[in-house]
Amino acid sequence: MTDRTDVYQSRISRARDLMKDEGLDMLFIGPSSDFTYFTGHPVKTSERLTALLIPFDGKPTIVVPRLEAPLVEHLGDDYEYEVWDETENPIDRVAEQVRRTGGEDVAINDQIWGGFLVQLQHQLPNRSYHRGANVLKQLRSVKDQFELDLLKEASRRTDEAWKTFVKNVKVIGRTEEEVADDLKGTLADHGMPNIAFCIVASGPNGASPHHHTGDRRIQAGDPIVMDFGGIHEGYYSDVTRTPVAGHVPEDDFKTAYNIVLEAQQAAFEKIAPGVECQEIDRAARKVISDHGYGDYFIHRVGHGIGMTGHEDPYLVEGNDEKLQPGMVVSDEPGIYIPGKWGIRIEDSVAVTESGSERYNHVSRDITILE
Ligand code: ZN
Ligand code: ZN
Ligand code: ZN
Repeated sequence: MTDRTDVYQSRISRARDLMKDEGLDMLFIGPSSDFTYFTGHPVKTSERLTALLIPFDGKPTIVVPRLEAPLVEHLGDDYEYEVWDETENPIDRVAEQVRRTGGEDVAINDQIWGGFLVQLQHQLPNRSYHRGANVLKQLRSVKDQFELDLLKEASRRTDEAWKTFVKNVKVIGRTEEEVADDLKGTLADHGMPNIAFCIVASGPNGASPHHHTGDRRIQAGDPIVMDFGGIHEGYYSDVTRTPVAGHVPEDDFKTAYNIVLEAQQAAFEKIAPGVECQEIDRAARKVISDHGYGDYFIHRVGHGIGMTGHEDPYLVEGNDEKLQPGMVVSDEPGIYIPGKWGIRIEDSVAVTESGSERYNHVSRDITILE
């Protein structure tokens, strides 16, 4: 990865500004994309705690097990290091830092294991513990130009892979898993070897939005919900298309498909700075409900995308947060008819100064695969 030390330091100082607003003395961040966001360093969750402590004042501290200390050395002297030995409890080191800075209000990120937090609470029962989510989501949900470029590139590569897949891959008579493997291979060929997820849900399986791709053989006349994405330099793509095998089924599939398409467009047109997240969901839901399929659109219309596949802001009824330039969200309405099929059409969309920009450009029309 390129040297972006200044970027991480400015993220930390922005976090401090927000900590001040929220009255927080310490941010305790476990292994997660939050850790990577502030350091550029990816770290895996395990029973051996690695953590980042951002005090309101003074250098941030990285708590790291001795055997993994060499992995963080390159982060240099912008951080202090608390290297703990195999027989120690890392929470002792965390508690020591909290005591040293004298802070009362400790915020944790959502991905810290409950076990670590409970131990810290036992050691320091007189502190107040908070979710760091308020601070973290304000930072993470608005992407800087560097992040937007990576997200756009992730979508571009994913689009290119889909175009190749549609041209070359046969689906009739093959299992969902075989088809998913081909799609993953195509993504890898287009510079996306790290697959985030790849759902292939054929026929009636498509009615389950997060279906586990399995051994069902695809038949002519099956709609196939294909929801997939990869990770490009830490940033996710997320796209869904619903092609059909052989021919379009003779039931109300085509009608429902066009309704989903119209709903997806209605949500897209609503995306702009200053618009409440729930308004985007309402725009899509109104189209689907007005056509009588409201009961079959069983999830929110979208979610943020960045260093994770699902993150703030969530485009869901009840969320009155306002969209801001730099947010990237999914626009993914669907109709799911149990026992028959499902339809979902999803693009990643960036909120711009003046409105919105789609990051996926592959055809949204019904595509027939052989
Ligand atoms: Zn999903
Ligand atoms: Zn998706
Ligand atoms: Zn999605």
